[in-house]
Amino acid sequence: MYDYLVVGAGLYGAIFAREATNRGYKVLVIDKRNHIGGNIYTEKIEGINFHKYGAHIFHTNNKEVWDYLNQYTVFNRFTNSPVANYKGQLYSLPFNMYTFNKIWGVVTPEEAKAKIEEQKKEIIGPPQNLEEQAISLVGRDLFEKLIKGYTEKQWGRDCKDLPAFIIKRLPVRFTFDNNYFNALYQGIPVGGYTNMVKNILEGIEVRLEENYLDNREKWNSMARMIVYTGPIDAYFDYKLGTLEYRSIRFEHEILDMQNFQGNAAVNYTDKETPWTRIIEHKWFEFGKDENGNDISKTIISREYSSEWKPGDEPYYPVNDEKNSSLFSQYKDLANKEEKVIFGGRLGEYKYYDMDATVESVLKKCKKVL
Ligand code: UDP
Repeated sequence: MYDYLVVGAGLYGAIFAREATNRGYKVLVIDKRNHIGGNIYTEKIEGINFHKYGAHIFHTNNKEVWDYLNQYTVFNRFTNSPVANYKGQLYSLPFNMYTFNKIWGVVTPEEAKAKIEEQKKEIIGPPQNLEEQAISLVGRDLFEKLIKGYTEKQWGRDCKDLPAFIIKRLPVRFTFDNNYFNALYQGIPVGGYTNMVKNILEGIEVRLEENYLDNREKWNSMARMIVYTGPIDAYFDYKLGTLEYRSIRFEHEILDMQNFQGNAAVNYTDKETPWTRIIEHKWFEFGKDENGNDISKTIISREYSSEWKPGDEPYYPVNDEKNSSLFSQYKDLANKEEKVIFGGRLGEYKYYDMDATVESVLKKCKKVL
């Protein structure tokens, strides 16, 4: 008999398993995939740590979280600064003085602010949705060129029907600083995320290609408590209806060239280009292999955003009103499951970054273990 059965070997599950094991509990981790790591999984191909389920760039302001993960990996000094490609014109992201200069020709912060002040006049009262929020942050010109097309492709919804908070993830700066994140600590695990998760799980029993939902009775009978990190609606057999997720389809390519786009991420912000962005994985590690040599090939991934349907991988919860209220009904059901802890992006139906996931699981561990 195990004390804890952890369903899902992603970041949440792995850390829960580690903490429980450290406190003397007997833990089993299962995952339906054939590998650990969940969506942060990386795989070495052509000497490149390839982010199979999309780019993950670790960033946090929380020193406790940073120190925690640094026990299991060394982070490199990667700083995310994506480039936006709008109809062949390149703009610096996030929104900063380089962006304002390119779009309006302004040179000083004062001129940039004056432009935004002028353009945000069209929004009266507090912003009610993503479009209004975006225009009041950066003005209509930037909204049209760098936000509208990208966001509508990514979410498959009109910017007027999306919550304002999504766009607040992006900094707006009146300095020449194109670091995408406002974070004190940032980097990519040297040797890939999979190694980090492997280190977190060291010495813990893990069984792969085991789907909890296919045989719950069996798994439930094996442990005192379950930590479930899959989609909360799937756990309840979708009985209140399906929560919406966005999924991503990737087109991966190995190219026989050294440098495809000169940056880890290029966002295609017009609405005509069918993909949202192209990731060139080698630039997360400065184009070098583990011995510091230049890598001659490159791997790129085009991302196509799509509405999730059963059978697809869920990536992003859609935290609009409709889904949030359905989630809160599922949450009421979850609270009644005394043997089960629901955690992570899918278990909590939250647009968690990795650091928020770590925060959430450490908090849960302090409470229940
Ligand atoms: N976004 C945008 N243009 C960009 C990049 C992002 O409008 O070039 C908006 C878009 O609405 C997106 C949100 O900012 O959903 C958050 O982007 P982020 O890069 O944080 O998303 P993630 O990396 O989690 O996919």
